[in-house]
Amino acid sequence: MTVISKTSNATEPESLTTAMSSTFISPSPATTILPQGFEAHDQGDLAFSAQNNDGPQDDDFNQPKLRLEIRDLQHPGALKFLASVNAASLMSAAVRNVQRHLYRSPADVSTNPPGTRSVTVVLRDMDGVAFTTGKELDDDHKEIHFSLRYIHSVSPQSRLSDEITGVLTHELVHCYQWNARGTCPPGLIEGIADWVRLRCGLSPPHWKRETDGTWDKGYQHTAYFLDFLEQRFGPGTVRRINEKLRRNRYTGEEFWTGLLGFSIEKLWKDYVMKTA
Ligand SMILES: [Zn+2]
Repeated sequence: MTVISKTSNATEPESLTTAMSSTFISPSPATTILPQGFEAHDQGDLAFSAQNNDGPQDDDFNQPKLRLEIRDLQHPGALKFLASVNAASLMSAAVRNVQRHLYRSPADVSTNPPGTRSVTVVLRDMDGVAFTTGKELDDDHKEIHFSLRYIHSVSPQSRLSDEITGVLTHELVHCYQWNARGTCPPGLIEGIADWVRLRCGLSPPHWKRETDGTWDKGYQHTAYFLDFLEQRFGPGTVRRINEKLRRNRYTGEEFWTGLLGFSIEKLWKDYVMKTA
């Protein structure tokens, strides 16, 4: 199926941090790989990696063919993109981060990544920030459309590489997450995407924990709630949610009581009480 998902908050610049070590660290809990020259802005999983460094891992997930298409090379956003990031190392590190956060390791039969074979980043002049879609004939091939206008608008420019990495990490989650055969609430889809971004230490400065509304407003609103669940029920909780979204259609309350033993409303109330 075709998934089209937009990133959060088109008006506010976001931030990120990604860096890359030359080797994988512990696959559990998920660790964050940072391209050279980057360093983490917040704790995220880097704290875990310091405590659980089991050394290099032999295993690796299947890596997709990565492609970059710049539809207007003279657009000021294209010039800024090319001057700010090494797209090859950024994308390679971001794909591995997403795979580790959603699937632990290739040897772990408790999680099952989809057969994503290629990811093409299309930089073009368009409204909004970015969206991800599958190709019409074969959903294993993904396209991330990323707005050159948005890239040009990011301010201050010192945050540009962080912002680009954060947006691409979010969109790459859409290339690898399950959606309960199209029945998953959009807010949970977007929340998982921003949770990975959060856990990669890529949360923008304007993100904060919010307790208004419902749990499934999406984006960082839901991402922080998922992080609360990850802490309460242990590392791998979001992976289990994603795996359940692979196996089952989304059934509302039964989904949560079956997985965590509580209703989602009860868990949201606990989160609000703890956070407010
Ligand atoms: Zn999204």
